Amino acid sequence: MISHDLAQHIVAVEAFLDREILAEDRPHEKPDSAFSIAGAHRAWQRHKGCDLDACACKRTAMRVLVDAKKLVLDARIEGKL
Ligand SMILES: [Zn+2]
Repeated sequence: MISHDLAQHIVAVEAFLDREILAEDRPHEKPDSAFSIAGAHRAWQRHKGCDLDACACKRTAMRVLVDAKKLVLDARIEGKL
């Protein structure tokens, strides 16, 4: 019988490990160099589940895609960039 605390710990560790698989170096920070459009597309896909407020990488990718007219923003999102 696994204790409740241990079960919670296992869930937390697994969530962390999943992030590590997806992650590159600093997964949700603004990239050091500008995204290419293809790079922005990949980042946009990789961070699809991220909250825009919490993920500078997603915001940066979105900005590139919007500027390239690859993505049309909802007015509610526009204010966050
Ligand atoms: Zn992210």
